[in-house]
Amino acid sequence: MAVFSSPSGSSPTQTLSLSEDERAGLVNFLQRLVQTPSPSSKEEQVAQLVIEELRSTGVEDVHVDQAGNVVARMGTGSGPTLLYDAHLDTVTVTNAEWPYNPYEAVIENGVLYGLGACDMKGSVAAMVYAAHLLTESKSDLHGNLVFAFVVQEEPCEGSALKVLLNEENIRPDWVILGEPSDMNIMRGHRGRVLFKVTVHGKSSHSSNPELGTNAITAAARLIFGIDLLSVDLPSDPFLGAGTVAVTHIESQSASLNAIPDICTFYVDRRLTLGETPTRAQAQLESIVEREGIDAEIEIVKYNSKTYTGYELSAREAFNAWALEENHELIQRLSKISRQVLGHVPVVRHWPFSTDGVYSMGETNIPTIGIGPGNPEHAHTIHDQVRLADVEQAARIYALMAMTMLKQT
Ligand SMILES: [Zn+2]
Repeated sequence: MAVFSSPSGSSPTQTLSLSEDERAGLVNFLQRLVQTPSPSSKEEQVAQLVIEELRSTGVEDVHVDQAGNVVARMGTGSGPTLLYDAHLDTVTVTNAEWPYNPYEAVIENGVLYGLGACDMKGSVAAMVYAAHLLTESKSDLHGNLVFAFVVQEEPCEGSALKVLLNEENIRPDWVILGEPSDMNIMRGHRGRVLFKVTVHGKSSHSSNPELGTNAITAAARLIFGIDLLSVDLPSDPFLGAGTVAVTHIESQSASLNAIPDICTFYVDRRLTLGETPTRAQAQLESIVEREGIDAEIEIVKYNSKTYTGYELSAREAFNAWALEENHELIQRLSKISRQVLGHVPVVRHWPFSTDGVYSMGETNIPTIGIGPGNPEHAHTIHDQVRLADVEQAARIYALMAMTMLKQT
């Protein structure tokens, strides 16, 4: 069981820890999570694993919402709400050769290897064991503690969390994301928008190209102009500069001897603070106008059914966000992390996008994050997590809940 006592003079951080058996249970649970594939839209089995483990650790209020997200609640029910967020899905395995079987969850020298170990089953396991530490220690949580284990974050961050908060009528006062941060504290990241550009041309036989309008050539002119945008994109002292990248291109023609009449390409645009999806679109439109090309620009829409049959849809346009440096959430998390980790954690920003695009980017709920796993290992064949970090994350999540939901 969890060892927790708070005799006068000792802080809870010195005493809130996992026993040997619990540590073995945590490692075994994480192995089972990694051994259970959960590519986006196929998270059902892993969701069941999480529910079973939560129930076996004494968390009674657990259920699956319409979209297939797992929601667990603890606390007295009245007072502020702290929400922990982690996603259950992973990217799919590429053809590249993995150093370890991606579904075996091999452990070597205290490191667990496998798909989703870093992003972010290590954090899922840590949150479940944080709940366990809290039930075992019989801590009074004055308010609501909600654990949200969401689906389909990888293809469309924020959308499943949005459904969960709206359908369950949850209004968090704070959100803590468990996305991998190498146990640093993250207080924001850039936004992103995905554009589809469709260029129209006119078909002709390629032996008479002057009779047609080549959509590929026109698209190339646009792409060249878009590439030049990167020189002047605005920069933010904390989040850095916005970026632009063409990531996919395809064309249509009657044959390989015909001038193509349609060329479609996609533009991944990362937004820094102060930029908006609308302004980013206007920048692209001005290039189309300047070049005098017949083209349409649209923001890509994400549509997908979840494993429960729920229709998830969203525009792939997300604002940048950053919580102010001196926010109480950062100060408290810094203090607890320092006590658990033994050093002062660095405060930075994630290189990638997270559910924070909804919690803070759209609804302005103070959001930060800390999680086991180095972001550099996410979505790579070197996916891995240090077990010591997973255990420390569990302790930090539990202590942070106790601190934020303390009776005042
Ligand atoms: Zn992730």
